[in-house]
Amino acid sequence: MPTQVAASNDRQQLLLTALRQADRELSGQDLHALLRQGSQPMGLATVYRHLRQLQQRGWIRCRHLPSGEALFAPTERDEHHLTCVDCGATVVLNNCPMHDVHLDGGQSAGFQLLFHTLEFFGLCGSCQQRQAS
Ligand SMILES: [Zn+2]
Ligand SMILES: [Zn+2]
Repeated sequence: MPTQVAASNDRQQLLLTALRQADRELSGQDLHALLRQGSQPMGLATVYRHLRQLQQRGWIRCRHLPSGEALFAPTERDEHHLTCVDCGATVVLNNCPMHDVHLDGGQSAGFQLLFHTLEFFGLCGSCQQRQAS
């Protein structure tokens, strides 16, 4: 997994740095607002275009909430979530159950593996209570 990569593009580097410095996942809107205060503001469409390219290079991953909102995080942060399908409440898993799982040579089919995603979905406590009453 790449830990110290430099994006070839200044703007991509800016986005990557912002995501690495954040203590949580950020949406495109969050990044747009964050960079607006800096020296290199960029439009929302540009933010999303560069986010897509960073994803294609395996440097960031994207998670979709039930609301449809997309959240981004650097792939070297091996962090996964449990999400309520009803209200969207999210819990961060303490550790990655996949961390020590590797595909063997045959399964990886010649791919250079970059990252994985893993998500659990369920009903949170308050949504269970609401549905039971
Ligand atoms: Zn819920
Ligand atoms: Zn993981």
